[in-house]
Amino acid sequence: MLINQLSKLSTRLTIFISQPSSCSRFFKLRQPLIAAILSTAQDNPISHFYSTLNTLPIYTHQNLPISEETQIEIPLEKLFVPPETDASSVNVRILKDSNIVLSKFARDPLITEANFVKSSVRTEDCPADGLPEFALVGRSNVGKSSLLNSLVRRKKLALTSKKPGKTQCINHFRINDSWYLVDLPGYGFAAAPGELKKDWNRFTKDYFLNRSTLVSVFLLIDASIPAKKIDLEYASWLGKNKIPMTLVFTKCDKRKRKKNGDKRPDENVKDFEELISGFFESIPPWIMTSSVTNQGRDEILLHMAQLRNYWLKH
Ligand code: GDP
Repeated sequence: MLINQLSKLSTRLTIFISQPSSCSRFFKLRQPLIAAILSTAQDNPISHFYSTLNTLPIYTHQNLPISEETQIEIPLEKLFVPPETDASSVNVRILKDSNIVLSKFARDPLITEANFVKSSVRTEDCPADGLPEFALVGRSNVGKSSLLNSLVRRKKLALTSKKPGKTQCINHFRINDSWYLVDLPGYGFAAAPGELKKDWNRFTKDYFLNRSTLVSVFLLIDASIPAKKIDLEYASWLGKNKIPMTLVFTKCDKRKRKKNGDKRPDENVKDFEELISGFFESIPPWIMTSSVTNQGRDEILLHMAQLRNYWLKH
């Protein structure tokens, strides 16, 4: 019902993106109107987060990091709208440099404590305390360790995952004693022999399909370069298997010169989003980040908080 209501309303919202004014431009997107939600694995309570839309008043958060530098217009159908959130409200809040609408569940985002707990080689060996978790995954060198360190504000926490014997493991970090960040092995390492690649696939895919406390995968994509086939394949697999996913674009501080024909991060983001749109029933949430400038750090934490709080409530 809400979908019909939305289509009658203005179908564009303005998003403020913190980029130099020379980068100012509108995203022109042509998808038919669909709810900006992502359907998910059936036995995962978070699926309701994505598949249920109600029209309760939107929660407004004080001091949100909303940028006011450059306007980018994103049509309503390209936004990720959490349930119990009215995206047509005048109070709608969109996270800076993302397509993510904030909901009343976006609270308690801060990380005060982060501890490495264990490395597991099989899904069934992962912690069994039932706490919600987010998995970070991406191509080798995408900036996963840097992002993890930036999120927890610790320079070397992610080094734990890079120690010998742990690079091919599921590494759990307990946050605030109440949820987990999970560092998964990077994929696409060119030197890996075929068998190792196959094992990696089997191992991580089993985790994605069977980990009942996995709230969402955070798939890291390097926004300083054009989309890579392996990243598109990965996103496609997650989409087809209805695994909840947020795209985290990394290295957005790198701005290439136009004269070389290279694209800017925001252009690569737009291209990637268009390339994967067919894999999903609706647009997944995406967010632009940099571990150099800490762009997107607070926003990721707010997004994780709203996913987590919804998951805990349902
Ligand atoms: P991982 O293999 O995915 O864990 O990647 P790392 O975090 O080790 O980063 C790989 C390389 O990319 C390192 O040289 C980092 O300094 C660099 N890097 C990571 N994040 C960023 C970023 O946001 N901006 C820039 N410019 N470089 C980054």
